[in-house]
Amino acid sequence: MENVPNLFTYQIRPRRKFEILDANCCWLDDGKIHQEILEHQEFKDRLDSYKILIKSNNQQMSYPNVVFLGTGSSSPGKQRNTSGILVNLNSERSILLDCGESTFLQMIRFFGHDHYRQAIGRIDAIFISHYHADHHFGLVKLIKERLKLSDQPFKPIWIIAPYSILSFLDYFDTNFEKISNGYRAIPCETISFDKMTKKMNPSEEKEELLRQLDIEEMATVLVPHCFESYGIILKTICGKKFAYSGDSMYSDSFDDVAKDCDMIIHEATMNDDLWQEAEYKRHSTISQAINVGRQIGARYTVLTHFSQRYAKMAPINLIDDQSLANYIEKQVVIAFDFMQISFTNLARAARLKYPLELLFDEEIQRMQHVITKRNNKRKLLSEEFS
Ligand SMILES: [Zn+2]
Ligand SMILES: [Zn+2]
Repeated sequence: MENVPNLFTYQIRPRRKFEILDANCCWLDDGKIHQEILEHQEFKDRLDSYKILIKSNNQQMSYPNVVFLGTGSSSPGKQRNTSGILVNLNSERSILLDCGESTFLQMIRFFGHDHYRQAIGRIDAIFISHYHADHHFGLVKLIKERLKLSDQPFKPIWIIAPYSILSFLDYFDTNFEKISNGYRAIPCETISFDKMTKKMNPSEEKEELLRQLDIEEMATVLVPHCFESYGIILKTICGKKFAYSGDSMYSDSFDDVAKDCDMIIHEATMNDDLWQEAEYKRHSTISQAINVGRQIGARYTVLTHFSQRYAKMAPINLIDDQSLANYIEKQVVIAFDFMQISFTNLARAARLKYPLELLFDEEIQRMQHVITKRNNKRKLLSEEFS
């Protein structure tokens, strides 16, 4: 994946100019930056212990694995694109969970110009969790790109989505461009988990979906966010169980259906100090997301969908709740764009946050400063009005 342009390349000076010549550009010296970072003794120590961990646990990427194409909320940023999670079931099949704006470009960046078409061809199903733009604005583009591939015979992608998304696709097909031959729609409701009976809703369509995707189980779960918001669980034929929350405020929606799953990918839009804002916008805080994973006994909880406030690093070390410390240390992973994880490297991924905390130390201190300022302001206001 080397030499693929990505959003980590910044043009600082000149700001706007066409036909920029390399000679006029100032390039950062990688060697000098590395040297400067390694002068920080604590960072060096944490990095060394992380390297030892990697060496002692040096397995290859296995299937199933997950590629994070977008881990930010709301709108695309330089470090985090909007939601897009590619679950590679095996070397031939993938399922995409949400498809925010530019998911297609993120696939080019990750797989490279020579390989992205094959990666798109492997996508058998796309799940869209809800109608908010940061979860589906890239869908039409991906369907159109999929249609350009000349599979023989052509396999339409299953689109598992709320009715609102399916009507939008119909509208687009009728009024703008023909895309309906590129997908086969299945409403989330058709494969939803029945919370009353605590059973999966059976249907012929679902049986066909499972057979074609070659997976053991797939079920959507209504979650509290906006109208028709769903999470999803899927179980592979090798017995690995995934859960994905979509956007959701803290709830027990996954308690029955995702119990003891191997990995839950949960949104963690806001830091704990913004819990009121999270509740108002029906999102989860970082601690709430971790609590969901711990409550259902998830082997690993992977946090994603961060507010662009935390684009560089989620402030996980600012969590006050000591009862979460053990779980966080070994079982919580912070997702970044282009991170690829499988069950053979999840333990390493969980430890990666420690060297990263020091690498982004200044950023975390800045966040801590903002939190303190906000808390002081709240205190002053409450004193004023009490
Ligand atoms: Zn969102
Ligand atoms: Zn949303």
